[in-house]
Amino acid sequence: MNSRDLVELSGPASAAALTSESILVLPTGALEHHGPHLPLATDWLMADLISRGVVEAAAAEGQDVWLLPGLAYTKSDEHHWAPGTMWLNAETLLATVVDIGRSITATPAKTLVFYNGHGGNIALLQVALRELRRRFGLRTFLMGAGIVAGDGINGPDERGFGIHGGHAETSMIMHLRPDLVDLSKAERWIPDHMADLKYIKFNGGPVHFGWLSNDFGPAGVIGDATEANAAFGAQLYADAITNGVATLKEIAGFRHLPPS
Ligand SMILES: [Zn+2]
Repeated sequence: MNSRDLVELSGPASAAALTSESILVLPTGALEHHGPHLPLATDWLMADLISRGVVEAAAAEGQDVWLLPGLAYTKSDEHHWAPGTMWLNAETLLATVVDIGRSITATPAKTLVFYNGHGGNIALLQVALRELRRRFGLRTFLMGAGIVAGDGINGPDERGFGIHGGHAETSMIMHLRPDLVDLSKAERWIPDHMADLKYIKFNGGPVHFGWLSNDFGPAGVIGDATEANAAFGAQLYADAITNGVATLKEIAGFRHLPPS
């Protein structure tokens, strides 16, 4: 199979390879503190490696999909206090993705998909989807590996909080890059005192609140990685590839208007 890295082609070859139906996938990760047990590049590794797996599997079944170089430096201001976190402020990141979108309009492609590995990017990328749609007419989408909190069945009950350095994320990195994980340093870091609140929820409830990762304690982790394991990570990875390929297929057929 030929490379699906768009920038490995020459300019003319890229213009010839792309069509109005081509899908460009742009990984967005983060370089940020993930506790003592995970590397700074955790979210970047997930975005980069899983998106590559998804694009290659989709291309192998004939989808017109291409990978762009990703953004490792993104919006990690919730971890600004921790050594090693490298972050862009919201205005910088929004301006960057808008500039990338503008550049895409010089190609035949009309569809841009962010493959995101960092929850802190989601709100901003949702804003970017509309900016890029309104300014440049691109079809824009946001997808990711879908890291969810441990439910007490597949790993410990993280009470909805396992979103940063927890069971799923740590298991995924143990699958992708086991050399970078030190599970002996993992603990259970769950803010139990707010788990039963009715309205103010940490993630996805009716009332949101502003937070920094050290608001919940000095570890800067939100989750329980103590039972993380590579086998669960491999299962998550396989699911991410399967779901990612199916998602791209749906994106390929997506139109805002019904067919005439
Ligand atoms: Zn992360």
